[in-house]
Amino acid sequence: MVIRYIKYLANLRSIDNNNPQKFICFIVFMSANILRQHFPFFFGPNSQSSVYLDSAATSQKLQSVIAVTQQYYQERAVNVHRSSHQLAASVTEQFEQCRKTIQHFIGAKSHKEIVWTKGATESINLVASGLAKNHFKAGDSILVSALEHHANIVPWQHVAKDLGLQLRVMPVDAMGVLQLEESLQMINSTTALVAVAHVSNALGNINPIAEILSKAKQMGALTLIDGTQAVSHLNVNVQQLDCDFYVFSGHKMFGPTGIGVLYGKYQLLEQLPPYQLGGEMIEKVSFAETTFQAPPLKFEAGTPNIAGVLGIGVASEFIQNNKNTMMQIEETLYQHLLSVLSGIPQVKLWGDKVNSICVQSFTIPGVSHYDLAVLLDKRNIAVRVGHHCAMPLMHELGLDGTVRVSLATYNTKSEINTLGAALIECISLLTEPVTQVETNHSVDKVEQTKLLPIAQSIQQAKTWDQTYRQLMLAGKELARLAEQYKTEVTAVHGCESQVWVHCLLENDRLVLQGDSPSKIVRGLLAVIFEALSGKTSHQVLVFNLAEYLESLHLGRHLSQSRGNGLSAVVDKIMAYCQHPSATQES
Ligand code: PMP
Repeated sequence: MVIRYIKYLANLRSIDNNNPQKFICFIVFMSANILRQHFPFFFGPNSQSSVYLDSAATSQKLQSVIAVTQQYYQERAVNVHRSSHQLAASVTEQFEQCRKTIQHFIGAKSHKEIVWTKGATESINLVASGLAKNHFKAGDSILVSALEHHANIVPWQHVAKDLGLQLRVMPVDAMGVLQLEESLQMINSTTALVAVAHVSNALGNINPIAEILSKAKQMGALTLIDGTQAVSHLNVNVQQLDCDFYVFSGHKMFGPTGIGVLYGKYQLLEQLPPYQLGGEMIEKVSFAETTFQAPPLKFEAGTPNIAGVLGIGVASEFIQNNKNTMMQIEETLYQHLLSVLSGIPQVKLWGDKVNSICVQSFTIPGVSHYDLAVLLDKRNIAVRVGHHCAMPLMHELGLDGTVRVSLATYNTKSEINTLGAALIECISLLTEPVTQVETNHSVDKVEQTKLLPIAQSIQQAKTWDQTYRQLMLAGKELARLAEQYKTEVTAVHGCESQVWVHCLLENDRLVLQGDSPSKIVRGLLAVIFEALSGKTSHQVLVFNLAEYLESLHLGRHLSQSRGNGLSAVVDKIMAYCQHPSATQES
């Protein structure tokens, strides 16, 4: 990388100074490479093989973030706010300085408005549980958008249920873009709180929060903005936005996991009751009475994530110092991604392509997102598929999931090209007819004779490609489950793809049927069904899935989450065998 960078520097003279556009493109491209240097992931053991396009799940970490956290643990590991020795005082100062850094990062009025949490989820829960105690009253409603991450739905749903309030949902159009007019009309005098994402994690849309905030203010509603996907891509100024609360997580902005921020207007933080109780957040304790510190310490019970705070501080400084360059790079990358994806005829793009950060969700009609993810993963391309913790949004769009490519400033056009080429290859693999596979027959004869036909074909497969083709063949042979049986009762939860399993005991022998939009999952179902069909309940209950998959050499091809999905299938079958009448209709 460094050598490539030096080569570009050497070529600088060849830039056409009379063509400013070309020069700007060049500078942006150069900066892209310069910023990539700050992320050791791209120079470590995974650097050659991996194309990381999953930054919305978590971003890669800055060298400076790693250095400051390491330095803390290695050289400065003391507690903050408590001890009076010199090192403790110095680390406490560094820790509190980070609060000021975050204050300036998001344009807050005071550092006292910055509360450390363990992430956006905890920040939202803190506000929700506090407001539940002293803000809402009968007849109030809480307004969220259809685009929200579960973290900005479930706490509000819980509060609404507990207090008998209405949870209302601002709608999206058929592409998943927030319908502003309708949304604004929904904000009325009963609206006690509007909680909305600055940027959708599932689709990348930048929501029109300025308009929403202005209407909410006009109607006297409190506002919480989930900025988790925004802070590393957009300029954020909470005073200009005039939101009441703004939340985000360190790990999506090149910082550590386990650290997050709750910004709140100071008087509102003063009014909120404490979230957790214990050391550090108190002023005075006696058995008769306890008084609490003022915000933000009132919300920071116990020893905080000190290394995390130092890390998020450094990360926010990096973003602030490089924001303009980053935004230019990301725009260039996003436009390139759109052109590569649009060039593949089968790809259907979702969400807002104009007001968007560099995140794009897509589907391929007739191809399971799960199968695509498995094949891309085998090509070392990391994307995320599924509902992206936004199940209600997927439901609105009539989808069971999407493929999400999420870029960050360190990605390159060449990585996007690699994705494009891989997608074309995977789509053709997943749509062409599967044929019998030539396998290696040198498998131990004794082992072979014990195995059933599908299991045998899988065990004989030597490469992932052969295994995958055998799974596809087995899946093709598996009878489809009639639509009437695809119900909540037969649905298996915990898989990356939709799966249904229908069980029946006939004369104490198990009859299994199942289905999934994923060809690979259908293949895996065929493997399990072959092993368990015709068995007695007792035999099923002693079945060891992990051992079985291992004996077929399948374990190494299954990621932890795919493995978990299969465990969920077997758990469902076992639950049926334990209580046949209680768990499924016959
Ligand atoms: N909101 C949004 C928009 C997110 O993308 C995420 C993380 N995917 C969260 C909230 C929750 O963040 P965390 O898991 O870091 O608490």
